[in-house]
Amino acid sequence: MRGKDIVPPIHRSAVFQFESLRHLIDAVEQNDFVYSRWANPTVRTSEEILMNLEGAEDALAFSSGMAAVTTFLLYSLKKGDRFLVLRDVYGATFEFVRDLLPKWGIEPSWVGVDETEKLTDRMTHNCKLVYIESPTNPILRILPVKEIAAEAHRRGALLVVDNTFATPINQLPISMGADLVIHSASKFLGGHNDLIGGFVAGSRSLIEGIARMRKLLGGVMDPHTAFLCWRGMKTLKLRILEQNRNAEKIAEYLNSRSEVKKVCYPGLRSHPDFLLAANQMSGYGCMVSFELRAGMRGVQKFMESLRTIKIAPSLGGCDSLITHPASTSHAGLSKAERKLAGIGDSLLRLSTGVEDSESLIRDLAGGLKCIQNISKRGSRSKTP
Ligand SMILES: *Cc1c(COP(=O)(O)O)cnc(C)c1O
Repeated sequence: MRGKDIVPPIHRSAVFQFESLRHLIDAVEQNDFVYSRWANPTVRTSEEILMNLEGAEDALAFSSGMAAVTTFLLYSLKKGDRFLVLRDVYGATFEFVRDLLPKWGIEPSWVGVDETEKLTDRMTHNCKLVYIESPTNPILRILPVKEIAAEAHRRGALLVVDNTFATPINQLPISMGADLVIHSASKFLGGHNDLIGGFVAGSRSLIEGIARMRKLLGGVMDPHTAFLCWRGMKTLKLRILEQNRNAEKIAEYLNSRSEVKKVCYPGLRSHPDFLLAANQMSGYGCMVSFELRAGMRGVQKFMESLRTIKIAPSLGGCDSLITHPASTSHAGLSKAERKLAGIGDSLLRLSTGVEDSESLIRDLAGGLKCIQNISKRGSRSKTP
C-alpha cells in the first residue's frame, strides 16, 4: 500500500474536470472545488489551520492582508452606513477608510485609543460595525476587546479585530466576543518574510457572505502561497514563544538605557495598558517600539550601525527587522495625524526574530554606543 502525504500537495489546477455535466453541476451546487478563484484544496488547507488557531467556525484566505480588509469592508457596509474605526489602524487600512469608502457614501467615525470607554455614545443608530486593532501599530497600545465587543453588540454592531500584531498564540479575539478576526499573513502567520497573504476568520454565516464577495472581487490566495502559509503556521507557536521572549528581554534592556527616551512594550510595568495586556493576552507580543533621545541624524546613524537587525518596513518573520514609522508605514499621514497617533520622528519599531537574544542586545548596544554623543547633546538642549 502507498503511504500518504503528511504535508498537503500543492494543487495548481486553475479549474477541475468532471466525469459528466451532472457531476459538474453537483460540484457547483455544493460549493466543491470547481474553479480556483472560488475555492482550491491547498488554499482550503491553510484556511482550516488558521480557523483552528483562532477558534473560529470558518476562515477564508486572501491574496494580501489588504485584500482581506477591503473585501470584508466592501461586503459588510453599504451606502449610508456608519461605522467606528480606531484612528490607530494599519496605515493602508486608514487610507482606504479615509479616502475610498466616503466615495461610496460610507462615512467612518474615528475613535482614539483612549476614547473607547463611551463607545455606545459614539454609535449612531445605523452604526454597523466597530473596527479595531490591538496591540496598535506602532505604539502598541492595548484595547479592551471584551468590553468593546459587549458595547458593540448592545447596539447591534459587529466587532472586527485585526489580530496581525498579536497572533492567535498571544490573543484570541473570538473567545472575547469579537465577530471577525482579520490577519495579514505576510507577517507572523507566514513568518519567514517570503509571502504576501491575508485571512478573515469568524462564524460560518459571516464567512459565507464574505466568500461570495471574495469570488467577485477576486483577491484570493494563490495555492503556492497557501502551502508556504500552511507550513509557516505549523511552527507559529514555537516561533511566537521565542520571539515573545526576545522582545521581553530587549524591552527591558532598552528601558535601562539613557539614550532611549521611551520604550513601548505592553509587558513593561510602565506601559499604560500593562494590566489590560496581562489580562487579555497570553503573551505580550514580539514588537517593541522605542524613542531615541537623538533626532533624525542619530536615528539614521543608529539604524545604519546595526548588523544583525535588518532595516526593513515589515514584521513577524524569523529575522529581526527595524523600521522608522514616521517615514515609512505612516508617511501617508499628515504630521498632525502622526502626532495624534504618538508617532514622533525619533520613534523606531522593532520586530524581534528568533535570533539569540544576546546577539540582538549586543547589536542594539553597538548602535546606542554610536549615538551616545548625539544623545547627550540632544538631551542638553531641546533645539537641534
Ligand atoms: C501588514 C498589515 C496589514 C496589511 O497586510 P498586507 O499583507 O501587507 O496587505 C493589515 N493590518 C496590519 C495590522 C498589518 O500589519
